[in-house]
Amino acid sequence: MRVSQLFDPTLREVPAEAEVVSHRLMLRAGYIRKAAAGIYTHLPLGLRVLRKIEQIVREEMDAEGGQEVLLPIVQPAELWRESGRWEVYGPEMFRLRDRHEREFCLGPTHEELITELIRSEVRSYKQLPLLLYQIQNKYRDERRPRFGLMRGREFIMKDLYSFDRDEREAMVSYRKMYDAYARIFRRCGLKFRPVEADQGAIGGTGGSHEFMVLADSGEAAVVFCPKCDYAANVERAECLPRSVRTEAGGEERILVHTPGAKSIEALSTFLNLPKHRLLKALLYQGDEKVFLVLVRGDREVNEIKLNNALGGFIRLELAGPETVRRVLGAEAGFVGPVGIPDDLTVVADLEVPLLSQTVCGANKADYHYLNAVPERDFRLDKVFDLRMVEKGEACPKCGAPLEAARGIEVGQVFNLGTKYSKIMQATYLDETGEEKPCVMGCYGIGVTRTAAAAIEQNNDENGIIWPVAIAPYHCIIVPVGAKDAQVGETAEQLYWQMLGMGIEVVIDDRDERPGVKFKDADLVGYPLRVTVGSKALAQGQVELRARKTGATELVPVAEVAQKVQ
Ligand code: ATP
Ligand code: MG
Ligand code: MG
Ligand code: MG
Repeated sequence: MRVSQLFDPTLREVPAEAEVVSHRLMLRAGYIRKAAAGIYTHLPLGLRVLRKIEQIVREEMDAEGGQEVLLPIVQPAELWRESGRWEVYGPEMFRLRDRHEREFCLGPTHEELITELIRSEVRSYKQLPLLLYQIQNKYRDERRPRFGLMRGREFIMKDLYSFDRDEREAMVSYRKMYDAYARIFRRCGLKFRPVEADQGAIGGTGGSHEFMVLADSGEAAVVFCPKCDYAANVERAECLPRSVRTEAGGEERILVHTPGAKSIEALSTFLNLPKHRLLKALLYQGDEKVFLVLVRGDREVNEIKLNNALGGFIRLELAGPETVRRVLGAEAGFVGPVGIPDDLTVVADLEVPLLSQTVCGANKADYHYLNAVPERDFRLDKVFDLRMVEKGEACPKCGAPLEAARGIEVGQVFNLGTKYSKIMQATYLDETGEEKPCVMGCYGIGVTRTAAAAIEQNNDENGIIWPVAIAPYHCIIVPVGAKDAQVGETAEQLYWQMLGMGIEVVIDDRDERPGVKFKDADLVGYPLRVTVGSKALAQGQVELRARKTGATELVPVAEVAQKVQ
């Protein structure tokens, strides 16, 4: 590629909204351009990086027996209604209608779709295990799209879904993916750490790990033990319930209080919401009863089908005691989660596996979720194990004080158990002819986010320092001193020689000052730079420079291609 032809519009000034370094550098170096909030165009250099990451992911998925498919982005609402997630996924889902008023969404994830495929096509244990994956756009209308590719509304994800005969086999698949993820991020040249995770809105029972790229700009807080291998997302912390995000405000709120407080009325006034938007559930923590009041600003709350016997997920916010008191009055006895600071609001995704079909009309307008009987109608016992692990606390494994770090979640592995296969009847016949639900797992990697995370970890004041494996090109040849015909000629010869050797090389053939060329090369982040200049050339040499260390050496012209390779 010739820099004179490369479509690489660099920028001097970046918009103020670009807060993190990866976002700034990707804009400045001409990797991306914004189309709308959280939606980007990937320019040639940017796309090459994504393709590199995808290829690494693909190779490692294939190595573990994964088979690539491509699932539709536009997904019918019926499938999501079946799983119960159409109602509970909330405003993060992009929804649309066709000309016949049929409802669809743009896939934020693909559990429903793939489960539908498997239930139609898999009959026998002989067809299992099955590991299917895809690499494609996902759509999530994030509340706060930001940080460029790190939190987009349209982004590229690899997701693999595993289908196994039983838990034991499912653990084999889980382990395979866990190991593959470690190889992928290692190959991408990233410093990362797998941490124990909670299971967010996807749910499931069998455990989960997140792969965190450690970087100060990371949105996730992790704790790790310096002595042993224990590491966890702070959100999860020691068998925490579902994800707990610290984020004040928002439209959804859950308040925890004891029975007898002047609950719903007070809430309704305080939040200026009609009562039917307050969904009240009787839950309990250990033996103690507590009330949860789910408040959602959007219409959907009335439509949550809590009585569909299938369970579902509700996004909850748990307010700290101070907030509860403010809302409910000082007499409200607070038995909420321990360890949550007074004024902090945390968000939790609670799984509500309902045990019976008939729960009190919670999905009708103006009905509250009353008179539900714990154990008969739902079980929420684990949910209140809320605790945030903090720096300095004793490691649950070895007792050493935990340390804290920030992390970017680049991937996550989930054991889903039979959550989706039971709801959607993805079953197979075992050796004895008995019908059993497949045991599932799902495994995601953010391709676009990984590219951004790589920059967060590898940059300096001059620009990006790509790990070689995911660099858009490996080497740039920079001829300096246009007057010397031999410079241009040698540079061209090297260029063609390297191309012939399969090296991904760029030549800066622009009529620019050396300083400009060097600056741009550093900004774009080519791992190696070969400078062809009159002085060294007179000795039959060129200068080879490593972007990462800045180290330069003079190398005979005849040897440089070999060295670059
Ligand atoms: P987060 O906690 O950051 O919102 P998530 O847990 O919702 O991410 P998953 O459902 O686990 O994300 O999706 C798998 C992977 O997809 C994530 O590990 C991440 O790398 C990527 N990903 C998720 N949301 C986004 C997004 N909005 N923009 C870019 N990548 C994303
Ligand atoms: Mg998310
Ligand atoms: Mg997450
Ligand atoms: Mg995740």
